[in-house]
Amino acid sequence: CQKCLSLIKKTKFLNAYITVSEEVALKQAEESEKRYKKGHSLGDLDGIPIAVKDNFSTSGIETTCASNMLKGYVPPYNATVVQRLLDQGAVLMGKTNLDEFAMGSGSTDGAFGPVKNPWSYSKQYREKRKQKPHGEKEDSNWLITGGSSGGSAAAVSAFTCFAALGSDTGGSTRNPAAHCGIVGFKPSYGLVSRHGLIPLVNSMDVPGILTRCVDDAAIVLGMLAGHDPKDSTTIQDPGKPFMLSSLTDVSKLCIGIPKEYLVPELSSEVRSFWSKAANLFESEGAKVIEVSLPHTSHSIVCYHVLCTSEVASNMARFDGLEYGHRCDIDVSTEAMYAATRREGFNDVVRGRILAGNFFLLKENYANYFAKAQKVRRLIANDFVNVFNSGVDVLLTPTTLSEAVPYPEFIKEDNRTRSAQDDIFTQAVNMAGLPAVSVPVALSNQGLPVGLQFIGRAFCDQQLLTVAKWFE
Ligand code: GLN
Repeated sequence: CQKCLSLIKKTKFLNAYITVSEEVALKQAEESEKRYKKGHSLGDLDGIPIAVKDNFSTSGIETTCASNMLKGYVPPYNATVVQRLLDQGAVLMGKTNLDEFAMGSGSTDGAFGPVKNPWSYSKQYREKRKQKPHGEKEDSNWLITGGSSGGSAAAVSAFTCFAALGSDTGGSTRNPAAHCGIVGFKPSYGLVSRHGLIPLVNSMDVPGILTRCVDDAAIVLGMLAGHDPKDSTTIQDPGKPFMLSSLTDVSKLCIGIPKEYLVPELSSEVRSFWSKAANLFESEGAKVIEVSLPHTSHSIVCYHVLCTSEVASNMARFDGLEYGHRCDIDVSTEAMYAATRREGFNDVVRGRILAGNFFLLKENYANYFAKAQKVRRLIANDFVNVFNSGVDVLLTPTTLSEAVPYPEFIKEDNRTRSAQDDIFTQAVNMAGLPAVSVPVALSNQGLPVGLQFIGRAFCDQQLLTVAKWFE
C-alpha cells in the first residue's frame, strides 16, 4: 500500500487521480495487516490496493464525475461494487479521473484536466521519437489514455494499484485499457450492480474492471457479480465462482470475425495484429470464420440518439438544489437552475442535454428515440444470430489505432474521429454483451494495441477463459 502511495505521488503528473484517499488507504491496510497477524480469516482482496473511477459513490469520499457540478459532493453511501470490494478487504487508494460524467473517449474533457498516458514516458516510445526522459524536457506531445475511464487505466498501468473500477457505456473501460496496455473487461449487462454508479445511460451502463491480467479481472468479477436488491436489473444467479481454468485446447472453439469491422479508418498495424491473432487461433485448431453483423454501420448514430436522450433525462437531477454546485442567483428559481447548469456542466455535457431534449420533443420522439430503439434491437439481434449459428466468441480490434498524442486528439476534425473510435465497442453495450480488451503487442511506435473478444450474454466466464488463453 505504501509503495503504491509513493508511486501515486511520483506519477502525479499523469493526473490519473482526482482524489487520493491516503488516510483511508493506510487505515485499511493497517487493519488488513492486523487481521493477517492475528490469523483471522482474510478476504480475497485483503490488503490489495485498488482504485475507483470518480463516478462511483464512495461513502465519506468526494465523488465529482470530473464535473464542477459535483465538486464538493460527498456521498453518504458506497456504490454496491465499491462495498463488495471493501468487504473483501480491498484498500481504496483513491478516485480516478475521467471525462466529465464519463462522456468521451479520451479522458481529456474533465474539470480536473486531461489524463496522460504512462506510455508517453516509456523508454521505447521516447527512444523512437528521440526524446529525453520525462523531467528533462516537458513534452506537450504526450499521449491520451483513451477514455472515459482513462484515470483508472493509467492508475493500473502505472502500477499505482492492482485493479481499478471503470464504467463502460460505449467502450469506456475497453478503450483506455487498449491504449494503456492492460486488460479492460465489460461484464454482461445485469451481472454487476449499477447501484451507486452515477448514471450516464442507464440501459447501457456497466461497471467495468481494469487489471493487468485476465485472471485478476475474473477474481474481481467473482466479487462483484450477483444480485443486488438495489438494482432490479441484476440477475439472481450469476453462476459464481469465476475462477478461470487454463484452456489448453482451442480446437472446439469457433471464433467469428465480423466483416463489417474492417473499416477504412482501421490502422494497418491494428489490422495486421487482428489477422495475426485470428491466424493463431486457426493454427491451434480453432474454427475461424467470417461473420456478418449487418447493422454495424448504424451503431454510432443509434448510440448517440439513445445516449443523449437518456443523458437529457438523467442530468435533470442536477438542478442546484440537491447536489454539489449551486449558483448564487436569487432572481428566480429558473434563473438559478439555468446558471447552475451553465457553470456546472462543460460543453460536451450541455451539448448532449440539448441534443437529447431535441430527440425527445413530442414531434421528434417517434422519428428519433423510438426509431433508435428499434435499430438497437436490430443491432442486438445481429449478435444473437451470429452466436446462434455456433460462434463462441467474436474477435475484433478494440480501437482504430494506438493512442494518439493530445494535440492531435483535440484537433476539431478529430472529434468525429473520436466518435468513430467507438465503432468496435458501442454495439456491444446496446446488446448488453460481455466483452474484454486484451493487450496484444506493441506497435512500431512502441505503443500497446488491444484486441477485443465479445461473448454471449452471461457467458462471461467462457469469454474470459478464451481471453486468458490468448493473453
Ligand atoms: N465514448 C462514449 C461516449 O462518450 C462512451 C462513453 C462511456 O462508455 N462512458 O458516450
